[in-house]
Amino acid sequence: MHKRIGLIIGLFLLTLALLTGCGGTASQGSSSSSSSSGQAASSSAKAGMDVTIQMLNVGQGDSVLIQTGEQTVLIDTSDVDERDKFSAELKKAGVTKIDKVILTHPHADHIGGMDVLLKNFQVGEVYDNGMPSTSKLYIGYMKTLKSKGIKHGKLAEGDTLDFGNGVKFTVLSPTKATVKEGQQQGYKHDPNNESVVGRLTYGDFSMLFTGDAEKDTEAAILKKHANDIKSTILKSPHHGSHTSSSVNYLKAVAPEAALISCGINNDYGHPHKETMQAYKKMNIKIYETDKNGTITVTTNGKTYEIKTEKGGAQK
Ligand SMILES: [Zn+2]
Repeated sequence: MHKRIGLIIGLFLLTLALLTGCGGTASQGSSSSSSSSGQAASSSAKAGMDVTIQMLNVGQGDSVLIQTGEQTVLIDTSDVDERDKFSAELKKAGVTKIDKVILTHPHADHIGGMDVLLKNFQVGEVYDNGMPSTSKLYIGYMKTLKSKGIKHGKLAEGDTLDFGNGVKFTVLSPTKATVKEGQQQGYKHDPNNESVVGRLTYGDFSMLFTGDAEKDTEAAILKKHANDIKSTILKSPHHGSHTSSSVNYLKAVAPEAALISCGINNDYGHPHKETMQAYKKMNIKIYETDKNGTITVTTNGKTYEIKTEKGGAQK
């Protein structure tokens, strides 16, 4: 897929003016009409869309870049074999320094880019769920953090991170009890469900980050947080897998759009048909990195817009 980079960049430049976007009013919980709102969207961008959230096009893996004007934050770092793409995406976004890295769980498609990140970029702090893993990639980045003296933080329910400029990230899962259990047991074989799940808020705008958390974790989150997980946008859990995105969870989150990170013709069949049907039934706009390339959300805390490298939302 690496040879596609040039083509993608070329297409991106050539079609810049033709990019479609969609906007919405975060405070009203309703989305405006899609591609025709490009004009309005770009004028509102000039009015100060100061926070940017990009779901990077890194194939079958996750990496979301958040730039708040005060801080640069990464949630996950792509898969090992997508590291070149990952680095190129960061350079394209003008990133040299990352203030905070959040690793949702120690699977390769989420922590695969950590070595290049720690080697080629200035990294401030790295957060994960604090549970040990036998993953070589995990052991590798932990060693590097130690040798470079980079702060390592552990996230659990109730923790809040400040991303600067009024942007906050509140952790919903795993619970402190799950983390404690995981630490006592050593490697626990359910990393997906131990993913760091958190809600980013900026004014009236919000986005739920889910890692690869599956239905068990969604049910546990719903028990405690059914009334505080409503979010403008959903980072589709587990690359759009049917093992996640349970209907009750989707109802509580009630997003206007779902962003899915997955590779073209990936081995897992992500995103799964059932997930897509559930989203469509709830009128959730769907964006996918395999079809749309990098997906960029910009917001001023009141309104937001979504732009893609190619194509618009799926209807
Ligand atoms: Zn994954």
